Amino acid sequence: TSRKRRLHLAKPFWAATKHISAPSIPTPSARSWDVIIVGAGISGALMAEALTRKNRRVLIVDRRVPVRGSSIASTAMIQHEIDVPLHHLARRMGADAARTWRRSVRAVQDLQDLVARLGIACDMQAKQALYLTGDEMGHRAMRSEFEARQNAGIACDYLDQAELMQRFGIDRSAAILSGASASANPGQLTAGLLTVAQARGAEIASPVEITDLAETGDSATLATREGGVLTAEQVVFCTGYEFLPVMESRAHRITSTWALASHPRIARPDWLDRSLVWEASEPYLYFRSARDGRIIAGGEDMDDPEAYRDP
Ligand SMILES: Cc1cc2nc3c(=O)[nH]c(=O)nc-3n(C[C@H](O)[C@H](O)[C@H](O)COP(=O)(O)OP(=O)(O)OC[C@H]3O[C@@H](n4cnc5c(N)ncnc54)[C@H](O)[C@@H]3O)c2cc1C
Repeated sequence: TSRKRRLHLAKPFWAATKHISAPSIPTPSARSWDVIIVGAGISGALMAEALTRKNRRVLIVDRRVPVRGSSIASTAMIQHEIDVPLHHLARRMGADAARTWRRSVRAVQDLQDLVARLGIACDMQAKQALYLTGDEMGHRAMRSEFEARQNAGIACDYLDQAELMQRFGIDRSAAILSGASASANPGQLTAGLLTVAQARGAEIASPVEITDLAETGDSATLATREGGVLTAEQVVFCTGYEFLPVMESRAHRITSTWALASHPRIARPDWLDRSLVWEASEPYLYFRSARDGRIIAGGEDMDDPEAYRDP
């Protein structure tokens, strides 16, 4: 059985917003499926939408109510900018780094197009992103990062200290300003995608907890906590920060992080409603505004033994 973790401490801000639910049934109507998706968060929802578009018979199971995992704790800054700067990633991956970054640009656009095409109301807003120098990257390294992105064909501008101060009133030595970013209500986005998949025949069963997995020839068999058995040609684990022991790998490390939301309609500069802001610092801070004029901020991921606790 996979350990259940405390995915949030206080009540996440998005949990109090409307239209973040998708209907579910307590027990799947069949034992055998084309694909079973474990986890009804944003990853499972995107997977379900894509697979039902290809007419696969899909079952989604979750041990919680759908859309109540880590996805509703997210600040939901949708960025093409990968955590590892392009000029660092290029040292590790060579030419594949630029390709990876370009695909990330395309993914942000594809997600916005998908939401528009499906008519999902989730406050999806195209945004620009402002990446500030900090103690991990000064203005010279920021310039190298800018040049690497330009060479990769990724549109962005380099702002020096004076221009950054003049346009944004921020006192840092430099920044990169880029497009291809967005923000959304992650609960509404997840619920919207799940609802689309359901309209195409997908089923969501909850609470159903998967406790074991066995591969049998061309199919996979899943055991549920209640002693049931489910089979599918393919199983996709979209379990976020939790995973079955058989899937644990040395590459996995669980960290703890935080986010907070201010009261609505607080005083803020005009540009903030069009922007995501983050910095090259350790620990780092990132923030954006939401449509109701709140500021939503988050920060550094931390190693924390609590993150591994099974409540
Ligand atoms: C504070 C915070 C801020 C963040 N900010 C951003 C951001 O700005 N931008 C960004 O891109 N990302 C951000 N993230 C990361 C992002 O939220 C997550 O990567 C994403 O939500 C993970 O989605 P998921 O669907 O994989 O997992 P989840 O939403 O956690 O869904 C997984 C589901 O699987 C279910 N499950 C687990 N194990 C089992 C089992 N054995 N059987 C049945 N069901 C099971 C769980 O109940 C859960 O509902 C942030 C995360 C946090 C915590």
